[in-house]
Amino acid sequence: MGKKHIPIRTCIACRTSRPKRELMRIVRTPEGELVFDADQKARGRGAYLCRRRACWERVAQRPKLLGNALKRPLSPDEVAMLRQYVEAATFDEENELTDVEQP
Ligand SMILES: [Zn+2]
Repeated sequence: MGKKHIPIRTCIACRTSRPKRELMRIVRTPEGELVFDADQKARGRGAYLCRRRACWERVAQRPKLLGNALKRPLSPDEVAMLRQYVEAATFDEENELTDVEQP
């Protein structure tokens, strides 16, 4: 009775599986826009990433990881946006993403 289903997703950078809620979602919307989906509510194909600095930096260096997960390569503008996002993100002492200034 009352069996709880916890959705698990895999980080595209380190391939670790975690409960979906612990991960950040990045979405390619049906309109083709790239969205950093903190609330995990945007429609579209999503990719998941740990909140760890190492994972974000890995994807900033290898945007192909994100392109592959979203089934469409990132445009040069989107790569720049991704790098900007990682630069603007705030991580705490445990290297966990805590806040991001929206551009
Ligand atoms: Zn990761």
